[in-house]
Amino acid sequence: MTVATPAPNVPSQSTVPQATRPRTWSFINRRTGEPMAVTCMQGCTIDHRHEMGRDVFPEDIWCWTLAEDMTLPVNADGKPEEFRILSTVIKVEPWSPKIADRLPFAVIELVDDHFVDGLDPDGLETVIRTLAERLDQMRETHARLIKVRAEYRQRSIAS
Ligand SMILES: [Zn+2]
Repeated sequence: MTVATPAPNVPSQSTVPQATRPRTWSFINRRTGEPMAVTCMQGCTIDHRHEMGRDVFPEDIWCWTLAEDMTLPVNADGKPEEFRILSTVIKVEPWSPKIADRLPFAVIELVDDHFVDGLDPDGLETVIRTLAERLDQMRETHARLIKVRAEYRQRSIAS
């Protein structure tokens, strides 16, 4: 006679936060017809449902983590419009023909659709350093602007 023993008290999978458990899914290699498994990059925010179980070229598969948009009014053709600036995402293309892109790299969208692509950690650090220097320069310009405006105002009062 078999006696049903209660299952040991194992924490259910759903208690593990989604972000710490990379998703594994599969697609059909469009070239070979063979199924292929993908394990998402940690923190991947892409909805892969349109690729799961479908015929896809492996080099068209990528994972990334989205950055929150930040915008500024940029004047490109006569009137200011909100453009996305300085969004930075982490991306990986596991079957990219470019070997370097098979490891996670950063992509910075400087301003709407203008990207600095394929940044390894050193590359990203270089961009951050460049922007930090530019910010220091902007702070100096800000202080100078305050002085120049004050002097300019004084001038028009005096005349
Ligand atoms: Zn993914």
